[in-house]
Amino acid sequence: MSKPALQRQRVFAQIAFFILFALTPVFDLFRYDLTERHAYFLTFQWHIGIDDLIAGRIDAGTAAVNLILFLFLPVLGTLALIIGVAWKWGRLYCGWLCPHFSVVETINRLMLQATGKHSLWDRKNTPPWEPDGSPMPRDRRYWLLVVPVAIAFAFSWAAVGLTYLMPPFGVYHGLLTFTLSRNEALFITAATTVLTLEFLFARHLFCRYACAIGLFQSFAWIANRKAMVVGFERPRLTDCADCLGGHGPACDAVCPMRLKPRNVKRWMFACTQCGQCVSACGTVNRQRPDGPLLRWVSDEEAKRNEARFSAQSQTDEDAGVRP
Ligand code: SF4
Ligand code: SF4
Repeated sequence: MSKPALQRQRVFAQIAFFILFALTPVFDLFRYDLTERHAYFLTFQWHIGIDDLIAGRIDAGTAAVNLILFLFLPVLGTLALIIGVAWKWGRLYCGWLCPHFSVVETINRLMLQATGKHSLWDRKNTPPWEPDGSPMPRDRRYWLLVVPVAIAFAFSWAAVGLTYLMPPFGVYHGLLTFTLSRNEALFITAATTVLTLEFLFARHLFCRYACAIGLFQSFAWIANRKAMVVGFERPRLTDCADCLGGHGPACDAVCPMRLKPRNVKRWMFACTQCGQCVSACGTVNRQRPDGPLLRWVSDEEAKRNEARFSAQSQTDEDAGVRP
């Protein structure tokens, strides 16, 4: 099945960011060098002056100003930017850029083909069809890909992670010539092991419950009732009955965070705005004159969507209708 344009754009953004993530230390765009005991930012050395203070080269007042200018302001500025974007548009960083989420989606997809489930913890199997109705056969031989791909991602993350702390060319040279120091080899072995286990068993659980960047974005997004959200035309709920030829819902089947996208916003706390559900609903309903039932809404429409949802939920509940 060819991907909808929105999802192609997202994959492109994810690949570009993954490459940036890997190359950032190589070009000294951002890293902390443990051997030189200072950071690099945009190729410039980034000192906060603690060593100079200890050595008596600067006084306490200058050290405090340095700390504010070169540590607190950049860190708080970056956090403010991420939280500001999340306040208005939700966890866009997670769904469109985050290198961890790219791994989540890649392994989900392979595991889905191997087992019929996105994750080992899913209770039910996902229908074996793509949103456009084409079959998505399950085949246990995909396990031969799931585990090596998880290990390969974990190893590359571990190696890239080390280049954020040690001179990147030294790390890559050490890897290619098997001459890493004992500590570097230990770091890569331990990080690869932990990350492989996380990628295989807890990848989207980490995004939902453990990632501080993700949680702060979710809190900011939930607090803003006008933030962009996946809106559902709940009055058309009965149209969902024949979703995927009656085997749906396609939106639940594609969500990498294992959410139910037709739900009220507070139950979508971990939504990464990946738009997979929006794209799937667009594909499923491509022939329907009224179009898809899911689409992004924001501002007053987001508030109205939530109010309408709550009112209709009550009516449906009274009538025994379930999404
Ligand atoms: S609810 Fe939709 S937009 Fe949110 S994570 Fe799931 S598929 Fe992506
Ligand atoms: S909202 Fe769209 S994708 Fe989800 S069940 Fe209804 S028709 Fe299917």
